[in-house]
Amino acid sequence: EATLIDGAAVAAGLHSELRSAVENLVERGLTPGLAVVLVGNDPASSVYVRNKIRRSVEAGLRSFHHELPSTTSETDLLSLIDRLNSAHDVDGILVQLPLPSHIDAQKVTAAIDPAKDVDGFHPMNVGKLSLGGGALVPCTPLGCMLLIKGVRSQLAGLNAVIVGRSNIVGKPLAQLLLRENCTVTVAHSRTEDLPSLCRRADILVAAVGQPELIRGDWIKPGAIVIDVGINRAEHEGRQKLIGDVDFAGARAVAGALTPVPGGVGPMTIACLLRNTIDAACRRHGVSSPIGNS
Ligand code: NAD
Repeated sequence: EATLIDGAAVAAGLHSELRSAVENLVERGLTPGLAVVLVGNDPASSVYVRNKIRRSVEAGLRSFHHELPSTTSETDLLSLIDRLNSAHDVDGILVQLPLPSHIDAQKVTAAIDPAKDVDGFHPMNVGKLSLGGGALVPCTPLGCMLLIKGVRSQLAGLNAVIVGRSNIVGKPLAQLLLRENCTVTVAHSRTEDLPSLCRRADILVAAVGQPELIRGDWIKPGAIVIDVGINRAEHEGRQKLIGDVDFAGARAVAGALTPVPGGVGPMTIACLLRNTIDAACRRHGVSSPIGNS
């Protein structure tokens, strides 16, 4: 039976490390600041934003919260970003996606100062990630990497299959796994014979958004399986979160497996705080108190 990868426990460890890092920085006169911008009232986004703010306050960061109505114009949002870009005490800017359809998310992302782009979505950071250095890396892929490396520190030569090619998960994770010398395959909705492709994976990452798409018999015995999916389903009148992997089936075959919830999810916020601290240190030319694991 697969070892469960306890993302909540790893994230808790990271949070306490980050709290000490912030304490250390505050003593040196630097309190990292994170601005979180939410446009509209998408219920899932509101929950994510609330958690991000709560965690950043707990870590000792300075937190700036901007909640704008769904009718906010693109121009108004861009001028807020302008102000946050020049605000001295703001080190990280996060604009929660998705944005309302009348706002061009790409334009907004590109307007954020790349040095404050703690989501790592700015073209400059995307480019740096693919060139191999110095980027602010998207939080969910970074969280996945920390979990994978917690299971196995040397990944060179392993076959990694990522199902999903989004800009926020699949593509940046492919870059991170390449950097570890994995042989990376990125599958997507037009991929043919997904089951046999998955069966070749020593590391299998599901970032699709389809409940239990990946079956137990698609998994190579002993593989590391990372389930990024968060799908909401009703179960006996209650809301339940289900991953992209058939958990029970996978558990019987895989070597290590993340649960949903309690796997990748908690790591995302921890990595956001870590990026904010990194960004603050770089902006102020201070050496970072966080290790490079
Ligand atoms: P997305 O919708 O942007 O991309 C989904 C990808 O899956 C696409 O590349 C698509 O080609 C591929 N796909 C769709 N159907 C497929 C199929 N049948 N076979 C193979 N590939 C298929 O999604 P996203 O933003 O990358 O998110 C993916 C999932 O991860 C969602 O459930 C989302 O909620 C979750 N997510 C979780 C976190 C977290 O913190 N844990 C963060 C981001 C996203």
